[in-house]
Amino acid sequence: MDLPRVLIERNFDLSDYEVSDEISDSDSNNSCPILDNELPSEKNCEGYDVEVDGIILTELECPLCSLVLRNPVQLEQCGHCMCRNCLNKWKIHSRSHSAFRCPICRVDIKEERIFENKMVNRMVLNLRVFCSNKKKKCSWLGELRDLKRHKERDCEYEEISCIYEGCMKRFLRCYMGLHEERCAYRVTPCDYCEERVRVRDAKNHLRTCERVPIDCVEHCDAKIVRCEMNNHLANECPLHTIQCSFHSIGCDFLGERKLMKNHMEENVCKHLELSLQSGEQMRRTLRTQASIISDLKENMRLVQRDMSSYRKRIRSLEVGAFPRRRSVSQSSDASLDQS
Ligand SMILES: [Zn+2]
Ligand SMILES: [Zn+2]
Ligand SMILES: [Zn+2]
Ligand SMILES: [Zn+2]
Ligand SMILES: [Zn+2]
Ligand SMILES: [Zn+2]
Ligand SMILES: [Zn+2]
Repeated sequence: MDLPRVLIERNFDLSDYEVSDEISDSDSNNSCPILDNELPSEKNCEGYDVEVDGIILTELECPLCSLVLRNPVQLEQCGHCMCRNCLNKWKIHSRSHSAFRCPICRVDIKEERIFENKMVNRMVLNLRVFCSNKKKKCSWLGELRDLKRHKERDCEYEEISCIYEGCMKRFLRCYMGLHEERCAYRVTPCDYCEERVRVRDAKNHLRTCERVPIDCVEHCDAKIVRCEMNNHLANECPLHTIQCSFHSIGCDFLGERKLMKNHMEENVCKHLELSLQSGEQMRRTLRTQASIISDLKENMRLVQRDMSSYRKRIRSLEVGAFPRRRSVSQSSDASLDQS
């Protein structure tokens, strides 16, 4: 049960209405306002190039572009409707030729008597239309007002760009899943550190990822997370070369950690001797330091004694040189004596 369909053919050639920049600039003030739901990219669009389900009233077709009216404007004098953009282009075209007249009935157009026809616009947006990807097998059928959203969000047959930054591939939306599996620009969390990495950078990332388990650098058979390798070497690895713990008091042994137990067992006497020597050395050092400290104390005492005798001499010199000031400075001298 096929419903009758009317395919609106495009037969409005833009080149018929070539617009010079100069004119379009001076003209912009006179053109109708942009509607709220209009994208900047639609600013210069002609009518809707859509396949309508059923018969479309000729009143809903633009006489200039022969498509379904987009943002219809009406000429008050004759009642004829056309797309707003088509009329703007017609105006520019008319000016460079003759007068600005209705393309259908040739009546003179007065610009202040052009108005948006909201009712016709509503009728247009209510039209049941097929998706423009019908030829590619999209079966969507809905109101014209919803077509744009369908194509931008849902249409499986709409050509889209890959969603991953840097990927230049374009394909039908229904192939996104298939492409995504192979897309080198897909971003996934690293299995080890959770950092988000592009598939193409994954190998490089694993070479430096801090959370990847790697073979011990000393080849001890352990798998160690990269960021814990230093800790493993410092505290666990049986093949890492370490110093004897008596190194600071003179044992020069250097060897793999696994040999250290043996070294300790075999060198108990040597380590004990080193400990005794070190203890003796320390006692000597302490004695030397104690005698230095006592010398310093004696020096200090002598310095203090000298200081106090100098202070007394200064005071007696002051009394001889300034006898009249004695009464004034007496009280402060007394307090100095006490101290
Ligand atoms: Zn038009
Ligand atoms: Zn007319
Ligand atoms: Zn579709
Ligand atoms: Zn891609
Ligand atoms: Zn990682
Ligand atoms: Zn190791
Ligand atoms: Zn040792």
